[in-house]
Amino acid sequence: MSRGGIRCGRPRLPVESCHSLSAWGYFQFAQMWADRDTEDSFEWEFGEQGAVIRFTRDGCKHTQEIALTLACCRFGGWRAWFICPSCGRRVGKVYLPCSMYYGDQRATKFRCRLCYGLTYEQRRDRNRYWTYQHRIERIEARWLGEISDDWINKHKWQHWRTFNKWCDKRDALIRKENQAVVRALLHFATLIPKTGNN
Ligand SMILES: [Zn+2]
Repeated sequence: MSRGGIRCGRPRLPVESCHSLSAWGYFQFAQMWADRDTEDSFEWEFGEQGAVIRFTRDGCKHTQEIALTLACCRFGGWRAWFICPSCGRRVGKVYLPCSMYYGDQRATKFRCRLCYGLTYEQRRDRNRYWTYQHRIERIEARWLGEISDDWINKHKWQHWRTFNKWCDKRDALIRKENQAVVRALLHFATLIPKTGNN
């Protein structure tokens, strides 16, 4: 990536790009996978000690057992939790990423959110928003004169060409920033009807 200096590593995947199974038996397909032909097929079965997931991915069959544990709820009763097969944490959901590769093979193990370093789309957009905000402020401080609602001042020492270039960059960043905000809001809106059913 050349934007914003040198960066190492890779972007974190959002939970929405994973299939997930919750400890209370709710299986959710990855959002990006929903309207797409896929050979992946899943079956799961809950016993007293744990859940067994049988699935097919890229033509190979896999079986994975995930241990369950019961814990008291704060307001009485019990609640089931998974024990993450990888780190041993008590978690509500385990995930299988759709676009995480090990060499040329896709991930074939359900693990917790932390083990896969998953993030929420909404949070990613918010981070993006702050990144844009930061870059816009830097351009304004360094290259542009005073800014009011309808006017951007050019420094006397600055060439028009340079001034216009930085104004354009600022505009482009503001547009992207707005898109990130809209995406975050839309994502939030899609979550609202779902919260009642879980
Ligand atoms: Zn884990």
